[in-house]
Amino acid sequence: EIVKVKSKNLKKYGTSSVMDITNSLGVLPTRNFNDGEFEYAENINGDSLLKNLVKKKACFLCPIGCSNVTKTDNIITEGPEYETLCFFGSNIGNSDIKAIIRANDLCNRFGLDTISCGNTIAFAMELSEKRMIDEKIEWGDMDTVFSLIEKIAKREGIGDLLSQGTKRVSEKVGGKEFAIHVKGMDLPAYDPRGSIGMALSYAISNRGACHLRSSAYAYELFTSEYDRFSYEKSKIVKELQEIMAVVDSLLLCKFGARSAYGNSFKEFERLLKMATGMDFNTSKIGERIINLERLYNFEEGFSMKDDTLPERFFTDKTSRGYVIDRKKFKKMIDEYYELSSWENGKPVKI
Ligand code: SF4
Repeated sequence: EIVKVKSKNLKKYGTSSVMDITNSLGVLPTRNFNDGEFEYAENINGDSLLKNLVKKKACFLCPIGCSNVTKTDNIITEGPEYETLCFFGSNIGNSDIKAIIRANDLCNRFGLDTISCGNTIAFAMELSEKRMIDEKIEWGDMDTVFSLIEKIAKREGIGDLLSQGTKRVSEKVGGKEFAIHVKGMDLPAYDPRGSIGMALSYAISNRGACHLRSSAYAYELFTSEYDRFSYEKSKIVKELQEIMAVVDSLLLCKFGARSAYGNSFKEFERLLKMATGMDFNTSKIGERIINLERLYNFEEGFSMKDDTLPERFFTDKTSRGYVIDRKKFKKMIDEYYELSSWENGKPVKI
C-alpha cells in the first residue's frame, strides 16, 4: 500500500507523468537539445497518452503497474515511455501523440532502441537544417521519420549511415559539437544544463549517458532533495551510482527500489541477508562493480577524456539561460576521481 501511494502518478500515467515536470523545469530535450521547453508539450504528455490507452500492464505481482498499452488506428503497442515521448516528440519537433505511438510500435517491431533511434534522427534533422547532408529531413515531419526508422532497421539509403548512431554519423559528416552522446551512448530525456547531478552522472558513467546509472534526476527534479543547479554533487552522484549498481545486480526494478526500499544500502543488505543468511557490505559491492567496469573500459581504449559532455551544453544556453559552467564541471569531475581514489580517471585498486 505504501508503494502504491508513493507511486500514485507512476501508477496512473506510467513514466509519461514525467513530461509535465521536465517541461515546466526547462529540461525537456527539444529539437536536438536546442532547448529545454517544448511549446506543444501538453499534446504529448501523460493526459494525452491516456486518451489512447487500451489497458494498464504490470510485471508479475507489481503493485505499481507502470506500463501502458496504447492504440492508434490499427496499431496496439506497449508504451510509449517518457523517453520515447520525448525522442519521437519534443526532440524532433513533433506534437502528434498518435505519430509517437506509431514510431514506438515501429521501433519495437524492428528491435530499435527509441532513445538512440530518436536522437540520431534529431541529429540528422539538425544536420539537414544546417545543410550538412543532402537529405531534406524537417523537424516534425513524421512521414519521413517513419520511413527513416524502416531505412535504419534495413540499412537502406541514408538509413545505412544513421544506423551507426549519432557518434559515428558525426565522425563521418561533422557536427560533433551538437552530436548529443557520451561515449557513444545518446542522451536520455533530462537536459543536463538544468540538472547538474545528471551532467556529472552522464559524463562519468561507464556506459555513457545513461539516466539509470545514478537516477539523480529523481532527486533533483521530482523531489528537489538536492539543489539541481549546485555543482556540489560528486559525493551524492558517486553514492547514487553505487546504489544503482547494487539495484541492477539484485535485478530490482528501479521504481520499486526507490519507493519500497528508499534506495537504501541497509535495506538491500537486509534483503540479501533474508535470501542468503549472509552479511554483505553493499556500498563496497557497488564501488567494486563500478571500478571493475571502468578497468574494462580502459582496457578497451577509453580514458578520462571520455568523461565529458557534448560541447553544446557548455556553449549554447537554453531559452531559460541554462548552460554548464566548464570550470565548475571539471572541478566536479576531479572531486569524483579523488573520492573514488582514481588516478587520471583510472581505478588503482579494486
Ligand atoms: S516492476 Fe517496475 S517496471 Fe514492472 S510494472 Fe512495476 S514499476 Fe513498472
